[in-house]
Amino acid sequence: MSFETLGLSAEILRAVAEQGYTEPTPIQAQAIPVVLQGRDLMGGAQTGTGKTAGFTLPLLQILSPQANTSTSPAKHPVRALILTPTRELAIQVEESVRTYGKFLPLKSTVVYGGVNIKEQIAALKSGVEILVATPGRLLDHVEQKTVNLSRVEILVLDEADRMLDMGFLPDIKRILALLPAKRQNLLFSATFAGEIKKLSDQLLTDPVLIEVARRNAANENVTQTIYPVDPGRKRELLAHLIKSENMKQVLVFSRTKHGAGRLAQQLEHDGISATSIHGDKSQQQRTQALTEFKEGTVRVLVATDVAARGLDIDQLPHVVNFELPNVPEDYVHRIGRTGRAGSSGEAISLVCAEELRMLADIEHMLKRELPRKTVPGFEPGAAAQIEARAGFGDRPRRDARPAERPRERGTRDRGGKAPRSQPVNPLDLPYVTPPLQPSAPGQANADRPNLRQAPKKPIPALLMRPVAPQSEEN
Ligand code: AMP
Repeated sequence: MSFETLGLSAEILRAVAEQGYTEPTPIQAQAIPVVLQGRDLMGGAQTGTGKTAGFTLPLLQILSPQANTSTSPAKHPVRALILTPTRELAIQVEESVRTYGKFLPLKSTVVYGGVNIKEQIAALKSGVEILVATPGRLLDHVEQKTVNLSRVEILVLDEADRMLDMGFLPDIKRILALLPAKRQNLLFSATFAGEIKKLSDQLLTDPVLIEVARRNAANENVTQTIYPVDPGRKRELLAHLIKSENMKQVLVFSRTKHGAGRLAQQLEHDGISATSIHGDKSQQQRTQALTEFKEGTVRVLVATDVAARGLDIDQLPHVVNFELPNVPEDYVHRIGRTGRAGSSGEAISLVCAEELRMLADIEHMLKRELPRKTVPGFEPGAAAQIEARAGFGDRPRRDARPAERPRERGTRDRGGKAPRSQPVNPLDLPYVTPPLQPSAPGQANADRPNLRQAPKKPIPALLMRPVAPQSEEN
């Protein structure tokens, strides 16, 4: 299929061609005609699938017949509102709007918190048809009466599940109340369960549901490897891998803001140029860190999940999980930063004994066991012993003795009876391509010591402490 068959104008096709896109991605092929028909849309698609162009191109097409070159602000009311959970995503979406709309006389701007509001007010005053915003800052503008949303024709909620995770539901409801009742609504989310289902029921009218496989969940372009290692040696192993494999551009995920900053500093001491991006940094510092990383001035960008959400770095070759995320879904979000748009990528996870439970949850979600590799000199001590017990297929067995089983996070031992393993609710999972068969024995583990043969004696380390999730405001 080509873009020419989708009913987009010559100006838009020209901008698309300039980007070098030869054919629409699956979400674009499905979403563009639906949006052009004026239908509401519920899109199950993530960053990395081309979803931004999936809604931006038809949105530009719909708005363009009334586009005008008048200098009067009144001639440029806000006609499309795009809400995103994070500043970074907001900035990137608006960049896409500008890129794809460069041959059209439509104006756009982006508003987000953490920066001076004055420039945003000036941009809004001059009139824009397309406004990209994070919810909190948009409401600041509403309060200051610096934005008028009464002419909005199209509303896009991008990464709606993330917005709800981040507690934006009350803000979203306040914003919805300010929009004209008659409008087109597009909602993109990784999950359609719980609160998202409720929100979509309220928001969408007779929506078309489009789901595309998450390209990276089982994306063959992304090599995923687990490096079992003792926790105290993670930083050394990371530096060793970066140097020995001559990695030029590495996005490293850290679970905490503090950990992200510290790790970047330590890597600098190891002679590896590094910077970090997290919620405690100002917008200017974040933008600078991202620019340095994109331009290749620094080799490593250490990021927390919230700060990294939605980052679009072309052709990112390496992603490292310095710590595994608490939520399996975030693993997929993280590795989705690499292997984009057909390029190949590598996702490495440094996993210590305390994280085996999280690894098991991730492998269960992916329905496959991830290959392990040990680096000579970095073999884990206790972790290697119990390693064999955590992988997919070795989920805690009902008949196992309590001492042999990891205690479920948040559950108490029921009178000496083995606690049940908590099933992962499939509705809460992101879209994944059809289940893969667990790798054949010996195949995925070619590099892995024969851990499955390790003596199965009870190991107290499996009764690990839960790791408290660390969240950050963004
Ligand atoms: P998104 O999921 O919208 O964040 O897009 C992910 C990446 O795919 C971005 O770098 C886009 O520039 C790129 N992209 C979007 N559409 C296409 C396409 N049709 N062909 C190739 N790359 C694309």
